[in-house]
Amino acid sequence: MKKYITTPIYYLNGLPHIGHAYTSILGDVMKKFEQMNGNDVYYTTGTDEHGQKNQHSIETSGLNADEFLTRQSENFHNLFVDLGIDFDYFVRTSKPEHKKIVQEILQNIYDKGLIVKKSYEGLYCEGCEQFKKPSDLDQNGCCPDHKVAPKPISEENYFFRLEPYRQWLIDYIKTHPDWIQPTKYANEVLGMLKEPLEDLCISRPKSRVWLGIELPFDSNYVTYIWFDALVNYISTLNYGHNSDFDIIWANSTHLIGKDILKPHCIYWPIMLHALGINPVSRYFIHGFWIGEGGVKMSKSLGNVVDPIEVIRLLGVDALRFYLIHNMTLGGDSPISLSMLKQGYKMLANNIGNLQMRVLKMVQKNLNNKVPSSVSLNNEDKKLITDIADRFAQIYHQEISLETVNNLANDVVKSGTEVNAYFAAHEPWVLAKDPNQKERFNAVIYTTLECLRLIGLAMYPLTPETAYKILDSLGIKPQPFKADFKPFILSENNEIKVGSPLFPIIE
Ligand SMILES: [Zn+2]
Repeated sequence: MKKYITTPIYYLNGLPHIGHAYTSILGDVMKKFEQMNGNDVYYTTGTDEHGQKNQHSIETSGLNADEFLTRQSENFHNLFVDLGIDFDYFVRTSKPEHKKIVQEILQNIYDKGLIVKKSYEGLYCEGCEQFKKPSDLDQNGCCPDHKVAPKPISEENYFFRLEPYRQWLIDYIKTHPDWIQPTKYANEVLGMLKEPLEDLCISRPKSRVWLGIELPFDSNYVTYIWFDALVNYISTLNYGHNSDFDIIWANSTHLIGKDILKPHCIYWPIMLHALGINPVSRYFIHGFWIGEGGVKMSKSLGNVVDPIEVIRLLGVDALRFYLIHNMTLGGDSPISLSMLKQGYKMLANNIGNLQMRVLKMVQKNLNNKVPSSVSLNNEDKKLITDIADRFAQIYHQEISLETVNNLANDVVKSGTEVNAYFAAHEPWVLAKDPNQKERFNAVIYTTLECLRLIGLAMYPLTPETAYKILDSLGIKPQPFKADFKPFILSENNEIKVGSPLFPIIE
């Protein structure tokens, strides 16, 4: 089946942070999980290169727009490559192919009479790039997100009427219980839909904002950043010019953070509905990464976790695993360098040491060959089949935030079980007793076979580690498939002792 996964596109007024790394890793994990199940996935991530925030950054950078946007966009692109993210298309909204489709869509909605021009007076927060109602502000009259008082602005603008679609959207959410996951966010959106929706201002006068896509029906204006950015989800599929659009859109997933619920779950489905396009198939909404002890990350507190530094210290896979394993569903989750180091040590103890110990025993006692014609007892067989069944079950589930989180949990659980088995049977003692040769072989085989299943299951989470584990067991062919049939290793598999998966760190 053909599937489509997207991340939000990221603003270029700062450097990529752990939140960006998380969403893009999550998409990659989901893509690899789907591919192991035989599905064909088109995965996009990228950068949002318009709007007032980017414009301000350009103006203070001393660079021209193109130089600035290219340099900043490369920071994201390069990080995602370093994180092993296998995106199929990297969106840059400054590209002409995206601009063209945004303009076609604006013209289409304008021609349907759904856009009106009127003069508007209101309080405008530049940080949010949105007009604010007095009820949106904190007790100091400031934007609660930006802690700045919005400026009073009076200007003529174009508006898209949302209210006529409100009841349709409420009904859609109520009749599609899995559309917005986890459910608490669906309820949050329903809460936003209790009051009539104000007209959405979709233009910005060029006198104020020059970095944007010109309205096709009025060259004095550029389009509002969300009306531009959201369209990336269909411009990457070449909407309007691609006869396969409906096929791939019919199985589409948006991964988003909880802070962009309103544009994604209210503006976007209404825009699509106005265009006669079905909504995205599902949203997966995640919380934020916060500092240890629940404090917000900030430069002044010195608790910001920089993904580039984490990769340098702990490698890519420890970061990927930590993020998927530790994100609380429907909530925020703490992260710090010391927590990441603990996660690294857990992987080193649970998987890395086990692999190294068993491989060295095969090297020393079995001439690098998987023991052949072993007689496994019931305990050996049960351990192998339990782990095989567990992973087969996970890989049969519909993908969700919960599924990938459960996968990480099951990897740890299986590693713990195999370690306990290995410790209880003391193969290093059996190896010294010629009468125990058969038992030694069975314990080694069981451990190797479990390690193979764990390595295979880990592939979406930690592709490099999975590849190393399977390679050390003499298993070559990629792409890996979610085939957890047990008792596959045989004397034909040549064992290779390589370097440690998670070498000791300070
Ligand atoms: Zn604001």
